[in-house]
Amino acid sequence: MTNIQKILEIGLEEYLEKNKTVGYKQKVIKAIKNCKSDKLGAHKYVCDECGYEEIAYNSCRNRHCPNCQTGKKLKWIEARKEEVLNIKYYHVVFTIPSEIYNIAIQNQSKIYKIMFKASAETLQELAEDEKYLGGEIGFFSIIHTWGQNLMYHPRRTNRTRKMGRKRRRFFHTCKSYVKKI
Ligand SMILES: [Zn+2]
Repeated sequence: MTNIQKILEIGLEEYLEKNKTVGYKQKVIKAIKNCKSDKLGAHKYVCDECGYEEIAYNSCRNRHCPNCQTGKKLKWIEARKEEVLNIKYYHVVFTIPSEIYNIAIQNQSKIYKIMFKASAETLQELAEDEKYLGGEIGFFSIIHTWGQNLMYHPRRTNRTRKMGRKRRRFFHTCKSYVKKI
């Protein structure tokens, strides 16, 4: 049993009595709670040579489950490391005001597409502007939907590769510009 499963075991019932949870959250909670337990069935490994057998409980494979996603996450990080160039990158974060979180959480697909488009266009537009960089930049972008406190906080983070001579000024300006949106 993982730490998060222990926490769910101790406090879930009381939490559900006091808090209303929407359908998709209930689905995630159930998946994490039952991950690698007898509730999801099991499979058997058998050694071809000595016949040794071992039973392993099935994983939930839910994308929010820390138990299941650690391996995937590490593979993803390794794959990104292959793509990045051996140069300095900047971390640029775009977010939305907390006042519209309720609208965002009910229209997640649309809002995340808008955030991606707006952040990509903003970076490209500022980079191309002769006042700032006057050149092209390369970047990759990731959506984060929850903060470390597990509260909803959608933001798109970009790893931006600097190019061009005016890069320091560009990134300073970019930061100020983003704050003003
Ligand atoms: Zn799992």
